[in-house]
Amino acid sequence: MAKISTLESSKVHRCILFGPPKTGKTLLAGKLAEFYNIIWVDFENGYETLFQLPASYQEKIELITIPDTRSYPMAIETALKMVKQPCIICETHGKVGCMLCKREEAPVISIDLPNLHDLDTVVVFDSMTQLTNSAIANITKSQPDDYKLDYDDWGNLGKLLDIFLSHIQQSGYHVIVISHETEAKTEGKKTRLVPVSGTRNFSRNVAKYFDHVIYCEVKNRKHTFTSSTTASTNILTGSRTGIAIENAADTDGGASLLQIFKPELYPTPDAPVVAIGSKKLGSGGNTTANSVLARLKK
Ligand SMILES: [Zn+2]
Repeated sequence: MAKISTLESSKVHRCILFGPPKTGKTLLAGKLAEFYNIIWVDFENGYETLFQLPASYQEKIELITIPDTRSYPMAIETALKMVKQPCIICETHGKVGCMLCKREEAPVISIDLPNLHDLDTVVVFDSMTQLTNSAIANITKSQPDDYKLDYDDWGNLGKLLDIFLSHIQQSGYHVIVISHETEAKTEGKKTRLVPVSGTRNFSRNVAKYFDHVIYCEVKNRKHTFTSSTTASTNILTGSRTGIAIENAADTDGGASLLQIFKPELYPTPDAPVVAIGSKKLGSGGNTTANSVLARLKK
């Protein structure tokens, strides 16, 4: 049996970003294109925000749009296939192995996530909320509009989302899942904000599939991001590597997922006191801090 001290912690980062709409989730993830290739799987037509990124970043983002509606729930079907097997997805319908598009020789995207072992690639799924809606629509496909889900339906919903999440938990690439917020009761009967993922009960436990759970909100008219486990008792956040991205929120560059993905760019607590962009930076000429500054000045 291996001693824990001899095991290197996994280099793959799997994050869930959650919070109300318009709190900077898309750009927070999109900015990783500075250093990473991004495969952006868009279930809810939210990609237009990415046009705010510099052109050089946009070039590194490959977009896969999966149109998803109540009457045509494609997201859950395609997402499950994508994480399990090599796929050919049509651009028109976002459907794997679409016969119609094959016949008409319409444009398709070929993607093989199970065999993607590449730490320079981040796959973004936007969003878990839409994936949940898609799974519900799929389960109740043949039911009337006013149908109420029964016990088995909720069970099936949990199963579908578990299959998806357990596959990305084993991924050889970085993963970011974007979601919204919902209230769930903790064991101590306290109410807590958690990422939307299926039922309230499933949402309460969804953090177990991720290394980092990051909350996004607007505070004092600024996008604010929180990742430390102890930040709040009524909002679920946490980081396997103990990163608190909120600590950089007041610096020039603002909070960044690079603090999680490339911690070497950021000074550690043991390093000399370094406040990026302030006068304190002189202390010791720390190369890590200098490289961060150079990066921010670009
Ligand atoms: Zn098609």
